[in-house]
Amino acid sequence: MKDHPVLSVVIPVYNEEQNLEELITRVLKICKSTGKSFEVVFVDDGSRDKSSDIITKAVHDNPNHIVAVLLNRNYGQHVAIMAAMAESAGEFVITLDADLQNPPEEIPRVLEKLQEGADVVGTIRTPRHDPIFRKVFSYLTNKMVQKATGVMMHDYGCMLRGYRREIVSAMLRCHERSTFLPILANSFARHATEIEVKHAARTAGDSKYSVWKLINLQFDLLTSMTNGPLRLLSIVGGIISATGVGFGLFLFLMRIIHGPEWAVGGVFTLFAILFIFIGAQFVGLGLLGEYIGRIYLDVRARPRYLVRQVIGRTKEETKK
Ligand code: UDP
Ligand code: MG
Repeated sequence: MKDHPVLSVVIPVYNEEQNLEELITRVLKICKSTGKSFEVVFVDDGSRDKSSDIITKAVHDNPNHIVAVLLNRNYGQHVAIMAAMAESAGEFVITLDADLQNPPEEIPRVLEKLQEGADVVGTIRTPRHDPIFRKVFSYLTNKMVQKATGVMMHDYGCMLRGYRREIVSAMLRCHERSTFLPILANSFARHATEIEVKHAARTAGDSKYSVWKLINLQFDLLTSMTNGPLRLLSIVGGIISATGVGFGLFLFLMRIIHGPEWAVGGVFTLFAILFIFIGAQFVGLGLLGEYIGRIYLDVRARPRYLVRQVIGRTKEETKK
């Protein structure tokens, strides 16, 4: 790969051995059909199955078209994509899941939008084939993101997306450890657009997102997007204190008017209210902790990932 290709397809892989053969065939076929120069960068996110062997073999079979980045352990989809983006050279970068839920045949349509001038191309899965709880989860997430960022896109969860090189470079210059790529990309995009794409059910292997991983991702997304919850915390705290003061005054007045017996009758109400306050404080503290935890991670400034090996690049090409 002497010159920079027009298109880099970036694919994160985590224990996807059952899908890889078909994926590689379909991706190469569709990329060739575009007539543009291209490369496919696979990043193995610390798979424990044969995935890394399969992609390594694919590099040797297609030396001019496939690059493999092997991470030394599992870092999560978004970090893995960053590692592959750092290795990609194309003018346009399109990311895609390895499980064939995003049909590779949609790549040309995303590329077309990028060539028309979009900085970022998002996609809406229509119809989406995922378990119902995932759809509900995504629905809520998308609503939240839209509220916080202004309605820009409808489906932030779909990782079949296209980015222009400048956007990718900007994203790579972001060194925070917890990232949610679609939102990060949008923060640099001038022209963001969205197209509808097909979506398939997962036919082989299981989703790599456990409930715990999803919750993690949710917090990454929330804190990467906005400091809003911190501000909300102060506002809610203010309202709670004001209510507390008002309620104190009310109790005081009632005591003067009706005498002490009345106030004693209200002891249990007081308990209830106390619990509400304590609850609110815990929510607030938890959120605070989320941000502080992330600050701590960033202050330590550890490398975000370690590449074990890059296959399919000469030394000069890798050295940047
Ligand atoms: N993935 C990854 N690292 C992870 C989890 C997932 O590279 O820690 C990859 C996975 O191999 C797939 C893509 O990210 O190519 C999306 O994962 P999955 O299909 O499990 O997510 P879902 O479709 O359930 O959202
Ligand atoms: Mg999937």
